[in-house]
Amino acid sequence: MTNDSFKANSASIDGLSALLKRPHTLATIAELLGWDEQVNLPPGGAELRAGQLSALAEAAHAAASDPRIGEHIAALEKDAEKLSPDGRAVVRWARRDYDRATKLPAEFVREKAAHVSRAYHAWAAAREKADFAAYAPALEKNMDLVRREAAYLGHGGSGAEAYDYMIDQHDPGMSAAAVEKLFDELKAGLVPLVRRMTASPVKARAGILRGCAVEKQKAFLREVTERMGFDYNHGRIDVSLHPFCAGTGDDIRMTTRYDADNPLDSLFSAIHEAGHGIYEQGLPAGRRHTALGQAAGMGAHESQSRLWENQVARSRGFWRYFEPRFREAFPEQTRGISPDELYLAINAVKPGLIRVDADEVTYNLHIILRFELEKKLFSGGLAVAGLPRAWNAASRELLGLEPANDREGVLQDVHWSGASFGYFPSYCIGNMVAAQLWYAALAERPALENDFARGDFSWLLGWLRAKVHSQGRLHDTPGLVRHATGAELSPKPLLRYLEERYSPLYC
Ligand code: ZN
Repeated sequence: MTNDSFKANSASIDGLSALLKRPHTLATIAELLGWDEQVNLPPGGAELRAGQLSALAEAAHAAASDPRIGEHIAALEKDAEKLSPDGRAVVRWARRDYDRATKLPAEFVREKAAHVSRAYHAWAAAREKADFAAYAPALEKNMDLVRREAAYLGHGGSGAEAYDYMIDQHDPGMSAAAVEKLFDELKAGLVPLVRRMTASPVKARAGILRGCAVEKQKAFLREVTERMGFDYNHGRIDVSLHPFCAGTGDDIRMTTRYDADNPLDSLFSAIHEAGHGIYEQGLPAGRRHTALGQAAGMGAHESQSRLWENQVARSRGFWRYFEPRFREAFPEQTRGISPDELYLAINAVKPGLIRVDADEVTYNLHIILRFELEKKLFSGGLAVAGLPRAWNAASRELLGLEPANDREGVLQDVHWSGASFGYFPSYCIGNMVAAQLWYAALAERPALENDFARGDFSWLLGWLRAKVHSQGRLHDTPGLVRHATGAELSPKPLLRYLEERYSPLYC
């Protein structure tokens, strides 16, 4: 029997957990202030808030670099085989966070923070004028900073190694080679499917739901997210420019945005963010300051939001229950729209140039495009100056569309200006994991959609709680998929799902 009360030189898992509480608490305060900044803060308070956040970041860094944490980790690592799997996960993740907090020189951290802020403004200005060349030097410097960061943490052999490090930061256990293998197979199946759908005479009519009062939208999406299982005793929903979800399972702050002429946007944004929130709410309470109570990674997180948003909320079963309610909320606006027309509007697919506006089918192609370019940038196969041309060529190949300017192309996303490389793949990994979880759940409960048709999501929620949420960060991304589905992570379930959902509608 392994036992976590085991003590190595008076170090214990309990002692380490207690020390991890303070940096975690400070991080949650910073997150709350960040939420407030986007939801409530009057413009005149921006400077004060920046100062508050920077003071808090300093305190959180000091707490995370507490030498006692390092001593506990080192002592526990010496006798790791005497720890339980839970204990080993706590130590492994504490080591990773501690190294990150202590191995980066303070001067480097300051330089990176200052440059990333300048790079953001350079990107925003270049985007405005669709002038990539004006932003290229800032982007190059961001790549350099990331390479140096990887080197400080022991992953500095090459640019390719730095890119692997970045991917692993977002999705533990993944590498560029692993992602490439998955994406190549996905691309081979997806491009022909999108071509067939684009060639179809069936087109979803855009903008068929107009003048839907915001108050009614609010009430409707509250009912939907509550039925899904979002716990409003431990969370709330507000309005922000870009929807997001912050906080921990004790207090989740999610947002959406409202447009009277596009009620499906606020609804599906809220369902997506509620999926993130439900995951956080299902992580083991009381352990949120250690790996056992934290999400497994970005792809895992995104799998939860996408599963609820897509597999569940775009299904026939879901709308068998909610369509009458939706029509009751918007009788005027839905008059003359047949059930099939409404369902097609919910599952509208149309290739476009802008990632954030993409449907769930073509979205994956946007991600594959970004991954392929990032990989080439870091391996040395593509220079920053060559990015716009490479972007446009890939866009033509994958989406059949070419941007008229860099604003519609390489300058559209904020991520690289924040030195966030290796982040994009998580979105698509999330889609793959969601589809794989979906079929694993269906294998156990083939009539799952009949539950939805009764407005009952409890079986699915319970299944996700047991297979994914309760696991915290015990597994890396591939390990979690193996644990939950009994199979290796694969693009096949996603291809199968997209074919089954969209071929009957469009092909
Ligand atoms: Zn998300």
